[in-house]
Amino acid sequence: MVNIYECLVEELGAKKVLSPTDARERATSYWDASPMNVAALVRPSNTDDVSKALALCNAYGVAVVTHGGLSGCVEGAKPAEQKVVISLESMNNIDHLDLVGRTATVEAGCILETFQNTVKEHGLYFPLDLGARGSCQLGGNAATNAGGINVIRYGMMRNLILGMEVVLADGTVLSSMNQMLKNNAGYDLKQLFIGSEGTLGIITRLVLRLETAPRTCNTALIALNNFGQVVDLLNHFKVSMADSLSAYEVMWGEHYRAVTEEGWNKSPIDRSHPFYVVAECEGVDPENDKNRFLKTLEHAFEQELILDAALSKSEAERQEIWETRENFEALLQTGPVFLYDVSLPIKNMEDYITQVLNDVQKQWQKGQCYVLGHIGDGNLHLFIKPEEPGDGLHDMADNIVYQPLSQFNGSVSAEHGIGTEKKKWLGHSRSNAEIEMMKLLKSTLDPKNILNPGVIFN
Ligand SMILES: Cc1cc2nc3c(=O)[nH]c(=O)nc-3n(C[C@H](O)[C@H](O)[C@H](O)COP(=O)(O)OP(=O)(O)OC[C@H]3O[C@@H](n4cnc5c(N)ncnc54)[C@H](O)[C@@H]3O)c2cc1C
Repeated sequence: MVNIYECLVEELGAKKVLSPTDARERATSYWDASPMNVAALVRPSNTDDVSKALALCNAYGVAVVTHGGLSGCVEGAKPAEQKVVISLESMNNIDHLDLVGRTATVEAGCILETFQNTVKEHGLYFPLDLGARGSCQLGGNAATNAGGINVIRYGMMRNLILGMEVVLADGTVLSSMNQMLKNNAGYDLKQLFIGSEGTLGIITRLVLRLETAPRTCNTALIALNNFGQVVDLLNHFKVSMADSLSAYEVMWGEHYRAVTEEGWNKSPIDRSHPFYVVAECEGVDPENDKNRFLKTLEHAFEQELILDAALSKSEAERQEIWETRENFEALLQTGPVFLYDVSLPIKNMEDYITQVLNDVQKQWQKGQCYVLGHIGDGNLHLFIKPEEPGDGLHDMADNIVYQPLSQFNGSVSAEHGIGTEKKKWLGHSRSNAEIEMMKLLKSTLDPKNILNPGVIFN
């Protein structure tokens, strides 16, 4: 049997390839601190390296797992003893910023936060934003079609990608580094790879759209009495603030109280309310934006839509508000805890959550379900904690969360993808015809099934 580690060293040089022993120094992922167990770990410096490594693995039929920042939530980058990992970490350059055309050409391993900060220095703005910004990579964001907190205004990662370079399973480099907003010359091939979770090719470079940097940012943490008011307040913001509403995040009261327990996040307002919303508006008019934001909140008070609100008066206070939404470490301290990411129409959310909460209580006497979400996008996250040991807890929680979704035409994955974790449930959100078409694409582009095999479907 071929020693793939030695073959890769011969092809790329020893500096770019870690042995199984050296790879064990690394943690498996953000969620799993156990050591990585693989046949070899390749750290390519450029597209040509990726192409050579893939051509070799394809020739020998060795499975490859692509690693970005390893913050993915569905075990899509799970390594295994017999697999080769290709990590994009050394391909982290920002190659070019076109300040006139407002585009950036980047390597796929560039960390999201590094990129956000760099374009900001040039008065520009990259609006994709999520809690894992400090570790996730732009290539990983593209491969998962990441969403995050600004989708309500700017769309998902797909909306921000103009061009892409991708290496196919056999090493072929497919370069579609388009820089224009309009280009209808035949199929838009990059769309195939966005959200394909590393199963159709390895993304090596991207052309990204940039926006004008906002000059104002107004943020409030708002307490509300019921879910109807959460929806009404969203509409109120959309009407009064129009397109400037860039984030509208909801936390059910139990979630808010759990993440603001003593020793965790600080709560700027009373912790006893039924619902909390983080609303943020961005603009370019320092004179008037704040007033408009305040007036919107005042009107909401007058209409008795809201109970209480804290407005940030500094970046530090803004961060404090966002911590309550983004830092959920308090929930992960004791296990097991299962994270879900579903989408469904806003009008059905309350009924759906009521059903899930009831089912959790029925299943486990002390069981907990914490709910939050990017509600403007129809996206909810749930943390289910059975609060008791036992076998098959994850499957039971899956049933509770996923089964009721079909009656509302919901999706088992709003933004995290399917990975290996949810593939059993793919058929809940996609028809047989759709899944067959996905499999046909996979077998056409990767006939030996070497790229992330077992991710999305078997
Ligand atoms: C605290 C926290 C908050 C989060 N919040 C959000 C959120 O709000 N919205 C959201 O959408 N997600 C969120 N996530 C999930 C995660 O951050 C995103 O899915 C992110 O886009 C993954 O990027 P990554 O570089 O870490 O990819 P990885 O985890 O390394 O990989 C994810 C998948 O993409 C594949 N892949 C990675 N890089 C490439 C590449 N260059 N080419 C081809 N395939 C590749 C991998 O094989 C794997 O299947 C959050 C995660 C954490 C830990």
